[in-house]
Amino acid sequence: MPLAPTAERLAQAVAQLDAEMIDTLGAFVAARSPSGAEQPAADFFEARLQQLGLDCERIVLDSRQLRDSPLFSCPCDPDGGRHNLLARHLPRQSGGRSVLFNGHLDVVPTGPEALWSAPPFEPRVQDGWLYGRGAGDMKGGLVCALMAFQALRLLRLQPAGVVGFNAVLDEENTGNGTLATVHALQNTLARARLSDFDAVIIPEPFAETLMAAQVGVSWLTVTLTGRPAHVAYMGQGLNPIEAAYELMADLKRLEAEWNAPQNRHPAFKDVAHPINFNLGRIEGGEWNSSVPCTCTLGLRCSYYPGTEPDAAVALISERLRARARELNPALQVEIRTQGHRSPGCVYDLDHPAMQALAQAHRTVNGRDPERLACTATTDGRHFRLMTDIPVTNYGPLARDIHGIDEAVSLASMRRVTLTLAHYLVDWCGVEAL
Ligand SMILES: [Zn+2]
Repeated sequence: MPLAPTAERLAQAVAQLDAEMIDTLGAFVAARSPSGAEQPAADFFEARLQQLGLDCERIVLDSRQLRDSPLFSCPCDPDGGRHNLLARHLPRQSGGRSVLFNGHLDVVPTGPEALWSAPPFEPRVQDGWLYGRGAGDMKGGLVCALMAFQALRLLRLQPAGVVGFNAVLDEENTGNGTLATVHALQNTLARARLSDFDAVIIPEPFAETLMAAQVGVSWLTVTLTGRPAHVAYMGQGLNPIEAAYELMADLKRLEAEWNAPQNRHPAFKDVAHPINFNLGRIEGGEWNSSVPCTCTLGLRCSYYPGTEPDAAVALISERLRARARELNPALQVEIRTQGHRSPGCVYDLDHPAMQALAQAHRTVNGRDPERLACTATTDGRHFRLMTDIPVTNYGPLARDIHGIDEAVSLASMRRVTLTLAHYLVDWCGVEAL
């Protein structure tokens, strides 16, 4: 490859893009995009990709088409005409290998804005970190991929293979966004084809590690119905909120069982607490002086690769029902699954496409990337479980994702950008612009 730039020139190109990287991420974060209303971020990213002259298409979310897929999750929001953005750089001469960068546009709720040091959608840079909701999870990673591509442009080069950008909705609650694109690619519903891509990289913010495995995640909505009464005669009532404490305490015992070293999946043997059951929402009661009628719990539970979501949900549900019966047979338990219904998976990091990513990391950092067994789910599962395309997650260092004062490390973004630029050069090859 006589055209391939030296490591020094590539590093210079990335350094030259520094202000643009920060400005782009700032504007991207300011384009608010909670799950279910991602349009501002989709529009922003689409405009950026069009500026680069990429072939852009919108993949419209249509849950009816996805309903029969094993990876379909019950939606949390109406489809509402929302769409992913799938853009492709097409080389002049085909022949180079190709890669798809897949990332999500949606962000989780901010929590009380008063707890933030500055408003969460007014991004700011301080001490080498860019703050704002979505800065780390995961607009920063998408910007790294974009800047890696632009770095080649600065050198009057472009990848010799197809480079795709798939920016999706609904990652944080269902994964149906990426599912929609994979479904469209598989069923020739898009101009792009699955065969366009030889590798998938998801730049989620896991501190420049290569993801080796991820847990499965399911959401359960549990409604407990008791018996209301005047508190003067509390003994006549049945308090579902108080029952909820007991049910949660028992679920934490189940969580501890699944985390016990002898019960861990081999990929998670060195992870201290791989399985997390989170009580993320609770709602119930009507009046301080009334024994409440109902209590509704929003749970996020995880399980190991190899466990089907429906099997995990069945085990958890049975545990909840059994404890409820013990407490009081009159306590009614209704369990619905809406949101994540995601199996875990183990990635093939020995595949040449993933080895090439590890090599690019070594070139930039002088050492092997660490491998991560991830205690969260990512959209990597769709490619791993539905296609033969090698995939992993590799993105920048972030902190307080899903928390207060979320931020992404700019130094880490620079390294990830450079690593991805090396990857484009080495994996796809380059041609003159
Ligand atoms: Zn994420």
